[in-house]
Amino acid sequence: MAMESKQTYNLVIVGFGGMGSYHGQLIEQAERVTVFGTYDPIEYRMELARSRGFRTYESFEAVLGDEEVDIVLVATPNDVHKELSIAALRAGKHVICEKPVTMNAADLLEIVQAAEEAQRIFTVHQNRRWDEDFLIVKDLFEHRKVGDVFHLESRVQGANGIPGDWRQLKAYGGGMLLDWGVHLLDQLLLLTDSKIHSVSADLSYILGTEVDDGFIATIKFKDGLNAVIEVGTTNYIKLPRWYVKGTEGTAVIHDWDLSGEIVTRNLEVEHVEPKPIQAGKGLTKTMAPPSEESTIRRAIEPVEDLSDSFYANLVSTLEGASTQAVPNAEVHRVLTLIETIFEAADSQCVIVREI
Ligand code: NAD
Repeated sequence: MAMESKQTYNLVIVGFGGMGSYHGQLIEQAERVTVFGTYDPIEYRMELARSRGFRTYESFEAVLGDEEVDIVLVATPNDVHKELSIAALRAGKHVICEKPVTMNAADLLEIVQAAEEAQRIFTVHQNRRWDEDFLIVKDLFEHRKVGDVFHLESRVQGANGIPGDWRQLKAYGGGMLLDWGVHLLDQLLLLTDSKIHSVSADLSYILGTEVDDGFIATIKFKDGLNAVIEVGTTNYIKLPRWYVKGTEGTAVIHDWDLSGEIVTRNLEVEHVEPKPIQAGKGLTKTMAPPSEESTIRRAIEPVEDLSDSFYANLVSTLEGASTQAVPNAEVHRVLTLIETIFEAADSQCVIVREI
C-alpha cells in the first residue's frame, strides 16, 4: 500500500536581514516546512537570498497574492510587525512573527483578533525559551536542586553598544528592553506559576541614544521570588548569566558555554563552623567560605530537551495535533510586563500590580 505523503508547508520569509536569513538556515533543516520564497525591499538582500537559492518576490502584495504560500514569517524591524502580520492573516496565511511581536500589549490583541477572524495560526518566535542555560535553571526550580528559589539574577551584558541600525531609533521599536528584554522576561515568567507583585526599574542611556541601551528591573512575585533582570551593552566585564539562590544552595551559570556550578548544603553533615579568615584589614567568620565538608559542589550539566523544534510544533499545531509552543497569552503577559517596566522607570516608583 502506498504511504500517504504528508503536506509540506510553503513559507515565505518577509524581511531578509540578519534574522530572516538565520530562519532560512534553520528552516532548511526542518521537516515539512520549506522556504518557498523571500521578500525584502532592499535589492542587495534579495540578491543575497537568490545567491542562497531562494526565490524572491517583487512585493509584499505579491507574497500575499500567491495562493501557494501557506505561512508568512515576519522578520522585519519591530514597527511594521503588526501591519504586516494582520495583512498576511487577512490574506489567509498563517503567520510567524519575530519578537518583540508589537511595541505594546494592545497591538498584539488586534493581531490575535485578526487571526481568530481569519481562522489562521499566529505565533511569535520567542526562541530563547529553549536556550540550554535557561532549561538548566528551569530544571533547578522544578527539581528543587537548590531548595526553594527565592532570588535570581538573569543578565546579558555586552560592550558593543546597540547595533547601529534601526535598533537605536524609537520609531522602529528600538532599545534593549524591547530587544533582549523580551527573551529574559519570557524566560523569567516560565520559571514560576506565581503572579507578579511589584516592579521597579531603571533604563540606561549611557550611549546617548533616544532609546535605552540597557536596563535593570527588579520583579517581585507573590510567591516570594525576587528577580533582578539586566541587559547591558556597555559592560566590558560581564557578571554571570545566571545567579540563583535557594533555601538549600546557590547556582551560578557564567555564560552560554554553561560553565558554572551548583553548591548545596550537605544535609548528611552537621554544620561545621567556618574558621575566621583575614579579609582586607580585618577578620571575618561571617564572610568566610563554608567548610568543604558541609557543602556539595556539582558542575552544571545540560538537561535533555525533548520538545519539538519551533517549526515542527507549528506544523503539528496547524494539523490540530498540538497547541502552540509559545501561547499568545504568554506573549501578551511579557508585553504587559515590559510596559510596566517602562512605567516604573519613567515614574521612578515601585509599581505594585498583579501581572
Ligand atoms: P535587520 O535590520 O538585519 O533585518 C530587517 C530586514 O527587514 C531588512 O533587510 C529590511 O530591509 C527589511 N524590512 C524593513 N521593512 C520591511 C518591510 N516593510 N517589508 C519587508 N522587509 C522589510 O534586523 P534583524 O536583526 O534581522 O531583526 C529583524 C527582527 O528579528 C526584529 O524584530 C528583531 O527583534 C528580531 N530578531 C529576533 C531574534 C531572536 O533571537 N528571536 C534575533 C535577532 C533579531
